[in-house]
Formats: sequence, structure tokens, C-alpha cells
Amino acid sequence: MSRQILLGDEAVALGAVHAGLSAAYSYPGTPASEIMEYLVRLSAESRAFAAVWSVNEKVAYEEALGASFAGKRAMVSFKHVGLNVAADPFMNSAITGANGGLLAVSADDPGMHSSQNEQDSRFYVQFAQIPGFEPSDHQEAYDMAREAFDLSEKFGLPVLMRLVTRLSHSRSAVETREARPQNELKKGTGKDWILLPGNARGRFSQLLDRQAEMVRCSEESRFNRLELNAGDRSFGVIASGIAYNYFREAVAGDAAPPSFLKISTYPLPESLVRRLVAHVDKVLVLEDGYPFIERQVRGLFGVPGKTVLGRASGDVPASGELTPDIVRRALGLGPLPALPVSGLPLANRPPQLCAGCPHADTFKALNKALEGRAGASVFGDIGCYTLGALPPFNAINSCVCMGASISMARGASDAGLHPAVSVIGDSTFAHSGITPLLGAARADADMTVIILDNATTAMTGGQPTYGSGQPLLRLIEGLGVPKEHIRTIEPLPKNHETNVRIIRDEIEHRGLSVIVAVRECIQEQRKKRS
Ligand code: SF4
Repeated sequence: MSRQILLGDEAVALGAVHAGLSAAYSYPGTPASEIMEYLVRLSAESRAFAAVWSVNEKVAYEEALGASFAGKRAMVSFKHVGLNVAADPFMNSAITGANGGLLAVSADDPGMHSSQNEQDSRFYVQFAQIPGFEPSDHQEAYDMAREAFDLSEKFGLPVLMRLVTRLSHSRSAVETREARPQNELKKGTGKDWILLPGNARGRFSQLLDRQAEMVRCSEESRFNRLELNAGDRSFGVIASGIAYNYFREAVAGDAAPPSFLKISTYPLPESLVRRLVAHVDKVLVLEDGYPFIERQVRGLFGVPGKTVLGRASGDVPASGELTPDIVRRALGLGPLPALPVSGLPLANRPPQLCAGCPHADTFKALNKALEGRAGASVFGDIGCYTLGALPPFNAINSCVCMGASISMARGASDAGLHPAVSVIGDSTFAHSGITPLLGAARADADMTVIILDNATTAMTGGQPTYGSGQPLLRLIEGLGVPKEHIRTIEPLPKNHETNVRIIRDEIEHRGLSVIVAVRECIQEQRKKRS
């Protein structure tokens, strides 16, 4: 046993290691990246388990599923939108089941601090009909990682843990426990792992048959807690995940706090919910994310004789991250006293590329090459270069999801837009750009793809990339792009005129062309020098 100060992400990672983790896989994405950053460090020190940055989240999930098939405990982690990418194997793994414990960790980003949306991963728990955990604090994040593996092996199913940014990226003390040994190799057997319809139907009905047992397990979990105030039956609170902390803080010091139910496991602990709802007239549901619990408690037409308040009712803001002040307001309390910060004037600093970033020179050359072409559309992707949408560049017209720049440019080109240009980073290209480029190459689509090869996954802190250098050029050629229309440029101010000419030439070519802009991220260069 020891006491360590850990990030929420690190607490999950260490809990998994102490639970006998054999293999972990991830693709970087804020706020989940620190889980794998930490595991990579521990793995390098101990060489006791595999910690791998995968090419994308779907691949990461399948790699973890393979380790589980081999009987080992495996973890896969990603941000919430990464779970969309991994949704195919995730949903199917609820049917194959897990052999060695399989823990998937999805870090949600309510408030969209660095994300395209603020979806709620708890719906995936319900969608797949598997057990889920939602820690309220760092200690629970550590403890739940351990228990998740036990539960996964007990049910023979994957388990999903949902984190939120505020927990992932804050630090707190965690009491650790003795590490358990890794599982022996023991490969999966039978037809469970072959999802032919005949097998899958049987497995799905087994999954349905186990739902009541999962609910019972959730009802008995030590992570949930029901406290009823016998003297006041007017009002109660259901709080899940980190919202429970905000609630406890708000009522700290109250001699008789309202009745409450803390929920940290899914499926919902139904009997506990029923007991709270039966005890009070009005229930306030506090949850970060969507009104997931609130809607289940309310049902379609409400609970007769009861009032259910929360995000859906408008008593808590419908979107964005919960804060202690929002929770206090929902409880009818005033804001806590706060220190004025007027002595710290902060400059208004919109997000921007680092000074000297190679992407800036590519955008300048691209803008120049497109001058006078009113119909030009530039489809962007996920990475630092998304900032090319902002002044002074105003260089891209879309940013939807990983890889969409190439597929959208193809669709726009099919629809008749010209020039259709895609701008995508090397890591994002490897993640989700290869398959749409394969399609565009087969069709010789009239479009130009610019791959920004800065030799790293820069936006999330410089993780390795699979799509850089000579292998990237060979890959592009192998996908069927004509060799004479695979060009490279070096985005530097001194090369501006040459780069403009090359981009213009390739845009004028009525067919597919790929330009690779090769220059290392300056932050990575600095790290190497220091
Ligand atoms: S981290 Fe690298 S790629 Fe990102 S903005 Fe800075 S220099 Fe550019």
C-alpha cells in the first residue's frame, strides 16, 4: 500500500496495472491521452506489460480484444469520440464476450474543452448492454479499474468506464493496493468468438438473459450509496460521477442534508432509485453530460405524484460541464465566496498555431494558390491545423471528424465543386485517411489532398505517428495515386513561391493528386534539442 498523487487518468492506469494488466492500447485524444502516456512510462520501466499507441481507436479496441481472447487482462482507452471510431468492435464484443478481463475507458469532454461534441459515453454502456462504471473521484478511478477486470471476468463481458475531463485532468491522493499477478495464457474457445448469425443470435440472447444479474450487481455495488433523511421527505438528489462531489461540497456542514443516491455503476441500480423516489416528492438529478439518468427516472410521461428535475427539465443547464456553482444554484443555494481575481489581468489570447509552425507556411501557400478561384473548397481535419480555420489564415471550410477531409472533398468533387482540396495531418491520415484515399484513387477523383507530415501527433502532445516519411510516400503510391501526381513540398517562407506553384499545378490537374508537406513540428524539434 502506498499513497500517491495522481491524475484521474493515471489513477485508472495504475489501478489497471495493479489488477494484473497484460496489454493496453490507445489512440491519443484529450482528455484520455495521459492514461497511455503513464502506461508507456511504467511499461518502459518494468517491461511487465505491453503499452501500445495504436493507429486508431478501432484498431486499439480490436488489439485489446485479441489480448482478452488470449486470456489476459487488457485495457483500451480513448476520448469519447474515439469510442465512435471503435463502436463496431465495441458493440460486437458485447456478443463475443471477453475471456481475460477487458476494460474500455472512454474520457468524455463535457463543455467541449478540446472536442467536436460533448456526447455521453454512458449511452454506449446501455447500447451494448454491458456493465459500466463512472468514478466520482481519483480513489474510485483506481479502485474501479481493479474491480472492472473482476466484473469483466465474472460476466465474461467487456466493461466500460466513463471519465470526464475534470476528473481526468485533476490530481488527488490515491491509496494503492497490492498488485495481483497477470493471468496465465488461456485462449478463448467455442463458437463465441465467431459472429456468424447462428452463433451471434445465441450469444445475444445470453446477453439479454444476464441483464437482471447485472442490475443486481449494480444494486449491491459498494460504489453506490443511498442515504435517506427520515425527517424531510420533500426533496432528494440523485448524483452520478463527479457531480456527486459537487453535491457533497454544496451540502457540507448541513446538519440534515437532503436524501441522496450516489450512482457510479450501470445498468442503473433500480431498487435504490425506486427507494429514493418513493421516499421524496421531488428529485433533482445531477449528472455531467446528457440527462441519461434523469430520462430513465422520468420515463416517457413522468412518475405519478413526483417531480423530476435536471437537465431535461431545464433546472440544470442542458449543455456544458457541471460546476460547483451550477450545482449550488440547482439546489437553491447562493454561490460560494470567492477571491476576486481582478489583480491578474489576462490577455485575450485566441487559440493559434505556435510561432514558426510548419502548417502556417502551408496555409499561406495554399491561400495564394487558390486566389481568384471562387468555387474553391478546402476540407480540413482534426489536428493543430484545424486552427487554419481562424484568422489570419481563414484557410479551411470544414472540420467534422477524423479522416472526413478526404471523403468530404471526394463527395464535393463528385457534386461538381472545383477545386476540392483536403488538408489532413500525417497521424490523422494513418488513423482514418487511408481508406477514403483508396476510394478516391480508384475513382481518380478530381481533387487534391495535402498531407501535413510533421512527423508526430502534435495536437495531443507528440505521440508517435504511423504515417510519416518515406513509408507514407510508398503508402500513397500503393493506394493507387499516380506517381507523377504525388508531390512533396517543404513549408518554409523561403520556398513560398515554389510551393504555390506546385499546389496550383496539382489543383489544375483534373484528377487526383496528393501533396505531402514535410517539415517537423517545432515543438518536437525543441524536445529533441533539450
Ligand atoms: S504543436 Fe507543432 S504542429 Fe501544433 S501548432 Fe505547434 S508547431 Fe504546429
